[in-house]
Amino acid sequence: APGNRSVALRARMEERLLGARFRYINQQLYTSSSREAVRLFREDPQAFEIYHRGFTRQLLRWPENPLDRIIRYLRQRPASLVVADFGCGDCKLAASVKNKVHCFDLVPLSPRVTVCDMAQVPLAAESVDVAVFCLALMGTNLQEILEEANRVLKPGGTLMVAEVASRFEDVRAFLSAMAQLGFRSVSKDLSSTFFVLLEFAKTGPPRPRPVPGLRLLPCLYKRR
Ligand code: SAH
Repeated sequence: APGNRSVALRARMEERLLGARFRYINQQLYTSSSREAVRLFREDPQAFEIYHRGFTRQLLRWPENPLDRIIRYLRQRPASLVVADFGCGDCKLAASVKNKVHCFDLVPLSPRVTVCDMAQVPLAAESVDVAVFCLALMGTNLQEILEEANRVLKPGGTLMVAEVASRFEDVRAFLSAMAQLGFRSVSKDLSSTFFVLLEFAKTGPPRPRPVPGLRLLPCLYKRR
């Protein structure tokens, strides 16, 4: 019936519109500082909902979710380790391990979330064993964000970074920049064509100067 057809057409149009809004918000997040991201979601709470829905759909296209690797990794390590999940999204990590997990995001998708900018988390210095950024290093103030992770990590603590593979121009330059920030590369898993999984150990405080190799390209999604 023509009625059904117009319902279907309308649904398809709405889908397109949401897709376009997701790509726009996603681009804004990758091209602005974390402070601007705070403002974006404060001024437009619906934007977060659209962003998250789009993010979840994108991830479903991937053969594997990098968060599952991080969950497996944590399950092999003592449950007594305290974890901080920077940009936790729906808190799947916290829900999947026995560890104490501090969950930080801009908007609370779950009651576990502490709402804050990841460049400034309400944790004491040297209070966590493992810091996690799973597809969450979005702000242009990368250095500031990683310095914050360094601050809250105990000496020798672990930093796990999972990022979209296409965001790296030069993994080696990135790793040497990380060394400047007080993170020694422990292992790198490049086995997925979709994402890179990096494990670091905190060696000490960051060197107080600009770190030129610390660059990630924005992850922009194509219209489908
Ligand atoms: N780590 C989760 C979610 C990844 S999506 C997972 O793997 O499923 C990226 C998340 O980072 C989003 O929820 C987004 O809101 C959050 N984020 C982006 N910039 C942030 C910031 N400045 N402070 C806190 N969270 C931020």
